[in-house]
Amino acid sequence: MALPQCLAADVLVIGSGGAGMYAAIEAARQGCSVILADRSLIGRGGATVMAQMTVAVALDEGGLDHPEHHYADTLSAGRGLCDPAIARLLCEEGPARIREMDGWGVGWARENGEFKRAFAPGHDRARCVYVDFLNTGPAVSKTLRAQLNRIPEIRRVGDLLVSALALRDGECVGATALHLSGGQPVSIAADATVLATGGLTRMYRRNSASANMMGDGYALALAAGAELIDMEFVQFFPIGHLAPRLVGMDPIMWDPFRYKLGGRLLNGRREEFIHRYGSKDDGRYVVTRDVATYAIIKEAEAGRGSPHGGAWLSFEHCSQAELRAAGGPVIDRLAANGIDLTKQAIEVAPIAHYHMGGVRVDATMATRVPGLYAAGEAVGGANGANRLSGNAITEALVFGRVAGKSAAGHARRKVSKVDASVFAKEEHRLAEGRAAPDFNPAAMVEELQSVMQDDVGPFRTQAGLERALGRLRALRAELPSVKPAAGEAYDTALADWLDLCTLTRVGECVAAAALARSESRGAHQREDFPGMDPQWAFNQALSLAGGELRIESSAVPA
Ligand SMILES: Cc1cc2nc3c(=O)[nH]c(=O)nc-3n(C[C@H](O)[C@H](O)[C@H](O)COP(=O)(O)OP(=O)(O)OC[C@H]3O[C@@H](n4cnc5c(N)ncnc54)[C@H](O)[C@@H]3O)c2cc1C
Repeated sequence: MALPQCLAADVLVIGSGGAGMYAAIEAARQGCSVILADRSLIGRGGATVMAQMTVAVALDEGGLDHPEHHYADTLSAGRGLCDPAIARLLCEEGPARIREMDGWGVGWARENGEFKRAFAPGHDRARCVYVDFLNTGPAVSKTLRAQLNRIPEIRRVGDLLVSALALRDGECVGATALHLSGGQPVSIAADATVLATGGLTRMYRRNSASANMMGDGYALALAAGAELIDMEFVQFFPIGHLAPRLVGMDPIMWDPFRYKLGGRLLNGRREEFIHRYGSKDDGRYVVTRDVATYAIIKEAEAGRGSPHGGAWLSFEHCSQAELRAAGGPVIDRLAANGIDLTKQAIEVAPIAHYHMGGVRVDATMATRVPGLYAAGEAVGGANGANRLSGNAITEALVFGRVAGKSAAGHARRKVSKVDASVFAKEEHRLAEGRAAPDFNPAAMVEELQSVMQDDVGPFRTQAGLERALGRLRALRAELPSVKPAAGEAYDTALADWLDLCTLTRVGECVAAAALARSESRGAHQREDFPGMDPQWAFNQALSLAGGELRIESSAVPA
């Protein structure tokens, strides 16, 4: 069905992962009309639907846990850079969201009526609820989709790639998008807008991302005048699948096995090695992601890697029965790939997985641009320099609800509607251009991913970061001359071109912030500045001034 070229609602939510769906539900509960827009299918793009297992939450039944403990672990993992107000919000409101999801029938795993809780690295106790057998993300997404379906005030529009926020007198009043299946620009007027566009890990060659995790929200926010923080902190998931070949399964699928069974992480000589890097693992799963990433890469560099350049992960000491109890139907899928874990170890290596940085917000999820809010992985600050396993789904649900409520509050105070002129500039940008015959977006994206992986990956140096910045800026400079014009349905060249604009800008943010931070902390490791420097215990805020990127140091909020 053709989409009207002008849409309007009280609240626009951009992105329909866990954060966006919760924001839309909450804004509607507050009495607002809502447009929930996504470049993919509603509730099926992005990371939420792919999440596997852990949802960190301090449920205090029986005195087993308390949000204060969760908060202390979150701050400790964040290596001094967490924004305490939003980290506290995550931990304190987590239980209410998990219970609400429970009431909506998500199906958290239970034993004797109690929530089952898994232990995950960096948490001081078993704290992570889950839906069993790699099913947490699909169940969370399905539950939220079912809630959306019950609320007529929420209009769901898929295939809508938002390419710019609309501003009037410095206030966000909606957005302009490319309707991918129609090929035409669409304007969306809204009294308040929530960015829930997820993270950026697709910009790395080895990643756990879906195709639409390009960092769009960061670029949109930056261009609208909002600040970004902690952009240098990209989390690499240490045990991404490397070999043997695995078809139809997620590269981070080994995490749930490790939560349940531990498993032995071994170097190419079949020795345990984590203790050499200031931590321990001992066949359990206690080492944090940043240390494990560091240790695996360093072993491989020292010539002690597994054959494909990672580490071995072995469950060979486990029985078939133990493996089946931990993996259920996943064991059959492994068998279909010719993998028997009782007989062979598999190879793992770090892959880009999550972004701690993002749009700077306060505890109401408001950015510094009036009318603009953010939620979920799009937000920076809650997890500082390193995220604990399981905190990301919780933050998506918690921040989504708060953003929806705040956006609704803002929308209710508005009296005037927007005139069409605020969308004209972006509509014109989308419409103009001439396809360049030699425009090869796939090659450009591939090059960009290699630049990010090789020079802005888990280990960084001044020379590599400067090289990356030079290449990202050069790629960006090529883009205006190859811009395709809007008008064609399913114009992948134009969508790719928009992605390249985003990727080059967001890549520049990550590389520039990494270059400025001359120390190693959490997920940001500089080969030329090993070790944490107490003088660097501050955040870095990024903004645009006259089209140029500006980086300022910013005290961690008290
Ligand atoms: C494979 C995998 C497994 C994971 N497992 C876990 C886990 O077990 N526990 C945990 O806590 N975390 C896990 N994470 C992280 C967690 O899933 C994410 O951080 C979280 O789901 C992010 O939710 P979100 O709503 O912020 O973003 P997402 O769920 O990523 O949704 C963002 C949405 O925005 C849309 N979008 C993006 N740009 C635009 C645009 N320009 N216009 C319109 N729409 C746009 C996308 O299509 C997408 O639907 C995992 C991540 C991955 C990738």
